[in-house]
Amino acid sequence: MSATKVVVIEDEPDILELIEYNLRREGFEVATATSGRAGLSVIGREKPDIVLLDLLLPGLDGLDVCRRLRAVESTRDLPVIMVTARGEESDVVLGLGVGADDYIHKPFSPRELIARVRAVLRRGPMRVGNPDRRVVHGPLVIDPVKHRIKVEGRRLEFTPTEFRLLQFLASHPGRVFTRGQLLDRAVGDRAVVIDRNIDVHVRAVRKKLGPHRGLIRTVRGIGYCFRDEEG
Ligand code: CA
Repeated sequence: MSATKVVVIEDEPDILELIEYNLRREGFEVATATSGRAGLSVIGREKPDIVLLDLLLPGLDGLDVCRRLRAVESTRDLPVIMVTARGEESDVVLGLGVGADDYIHKPFSPRELIARVRAVLRRGPMRVGNPDRRVVHGPLVIDPVKHRIKVEGRRLEFTPTEFRLLQFLASHPGRVFTRGQLLDRAVGDRAVVIDRNIDVHVRAVRKKLGPHRGLIRTVRGIGYCFRDEEG
């Protein structure tokens, strides 16, 4: 089996060196670039398994790079972790909005970095297809065909909006979604949504989950995430 290949796009030499060193030590193959434009060509050449993308880059910034990757068939599903400055929640929201899979705040520990890379690789690309797939997660069983949700074997009643929201979140454990993404992807297209405030729906779902309300985690300033048992 060949090593997992990571492309790191980062304009600060110290951080780039630190990331590269730690990834190599863990057995990853690494290629680097110090600008967005160079990064795109390195990605085209190296065909990586995952990209670590700094948000603030000279010229083409991280958001532009991510948009371009998502616009091209060959890199549409390429996992991207956005690297942002700590405390810049609005940057994270923008990054997730243009299709980044996850984010990590600077400064991060090598352990945190490796864990994040492994988690994103494990999760794989976003599953948009197959809305009829049964989802089983710990005590929770979601059966879209029968339109039924059971917790510890007990059936719970959800509104169509709540059902879609929980189904969507539970289908992507460990992935953080912004409120806008949840409205568009989980709630907006099929259900008749009376309240456009996603927090209201999340609150209702949590209440019904009772002791398992913690399955849906609030990510402060950003959105919501379904708990990933392994992460
Ligand atoms: Ca930078």
